[in-house]
Amino acid sequence: MIIPKTREEIELMRESALIVSKTLGMIAGIIKPGITTLELDRLAEEFIMDHGAVPGFKGLYGCPSTLLTSVNDQVVHGLPTNRPIEDGDIVSVDCGALKNKYYGDHAYTFEIGNVAEDTKKLLQVTKESLYIGIREFKVGNRVEDVGSAIQRYTEAKGYGVVRELVGHGLGKKMHEGPEMPNYGKRGRGKLFVEGLVVAIEPMINMGTKNIRQLKDGWTIVTRDGKPSAHFEHDVALIDGKPELLSTFAYVYKALGIVSDEENEFRREPLAI
Ligand code: MG
Ligand code: MG
Repeated sequence: MIIPKTREEIELMRESALIVSKTLGMIAGIIKPGITTLELDRLAEEFIMDHGAVPGFKGLYGCPSTLLTSVNDQVVHGLPTNRPIEDGDIVSVDCGALKNKYYGDHAYTFEIGNVAEDTKKLLQVTKESLYIGIREFKVGNRVEDVGSAIQRYTEAKGYGVVRELVGHGLGKKMHEGPEMPNYGKRGRGKLFVEGLVVAIEPMINMGTKNIRQLKDGWTIVTRDGKPSAHFEHDVALIDGKPELLSTFAYVYKALGIVSDEENEFRREPLAI
């Protein structure tokens, strides 16, 4: 079901989204070779509770963890483990938070140390495709305008777009309508309306689009064993245009990255 939000609700959702952004920023400061994703999970849970929220994933559909951590050929929904992160890994950290009855849900794929050039390129293109998709999220456009833009951009680079997993509306439920596929045909799908809040989250494989699920019932991996990247933002439709509720600014601050990529999706500069 599509449930447009009032301005007041959107401000509450911004709060939830920013708690996740800050959590990812905290993780950016400590993720390095040797640390395990279980340690990251424990610290993230503590951090979210310290910020007056509760983990958004834990307990949802039986999810055992606060974070979903997907390493290398893991696409999404990786369960935290005792395996130390290694130099050259990429780690998608997906995180949810629930505060004031509203969810935030966003994700960043981290490079650990010396990452192969073609993998760095995959991450860069996937993140670019996220913003290319967000640009199409505006009143008057339709759901598949976002997906087709993401698909065109990433397939042109030879990458595979995951079909089975999609972005989604966001609100009092982690997953509301509409589903937001990262593929599609321009002009198709549900019409975007003022006040809609969605999580846009391209999941892009270096090789083919094909995936499978591990026996743990959660972790999704690429069939060909090649790496996969995942970036996710929470976006609201305000005055007909997309506005970011989440931000990678905390991650960038921790990593010493300077970026203006979010500026066009923000009415006021972010004070961090
Ligand atoms: Mg997510
Ligand atoms: Mg999501």
